[in-house]
Amino acid sequence: MLPLLIKARLMTTAMAGWTAAAAPVPLPTGQVALMHEARSVAPVPVPLYDENLHVFATVEIDHLGNSDEETTKEIRHLFRCRVTNRERPIARKSLLMLKDVAEQYEGRTIEFVSVYRVQRGESITSPHRDGRAIDFRIRGVQLRTIRDYLWRKYTEVGIGWYPSEQFIHMDTRPTLHDTAWTFLKGKNRYKPYWSELARKPPPPVVHARRPGA
Ligand SMILES: [Zn+2]
Repeated sequence: MLPLLIKARLMTTAMAGWTAAAAPVPLPTGQVALMHEARSVAPVPVPLYDENLHVFATVEIDHLGNSDEETTKEIRHLFRCRVTNRERPIARKSLLMLKDVAEQYEGRTIEFVSVYRVQRGESITSPHRDGRAIDFRIRGVQLRTIRDYLWRKYTEVGIGWYPSEQFIHMDTRPTLHDTAWTFLKGKNRYKPYWSELARKPPPPVVHARRPGA
């Protein structure tokens, strides 16, 4: 059975379509827009899979990266340090990005590899230690597609591509400059080619002239 919230969301979407298409008197566009808006601020289900412990869970996160109290606790527990079992709050902006990824690749599960890390040896400046970083992959979606999507859309972030290990690292770093890297043969390679390509503005559209025009 679908959770109530998802059902409500589906209904809102269906209604918005129906009202616009089938209402005998056209509805004021504002009213339809309002319904769409209600949908976009509603919490979104984020399907997760813990690739270490082989556990599935779906959490709901809203457009600000917030969840209800119970879900917030569940997220802390799911994303706990694998070595020490310690938990800490996960940065709201990082959760907001996670929710965005879930929406962008709707219907797919986000397989997380590592989130909070506080064990000895984890660097003092590591965004994992701070609960700001999430390492993940999505089966059936190319890593480079997710990588470019995030890098193009967000600033004040760190995006790392780990092609051999098959995951994307994403972190939020307010007030720090953006950093992109490829992890290859045991080393981070900063400012990789893809980071420049992904943020390049698209070329202007040139309309071909009709012959004789
Ligand atoms: Zn990482």
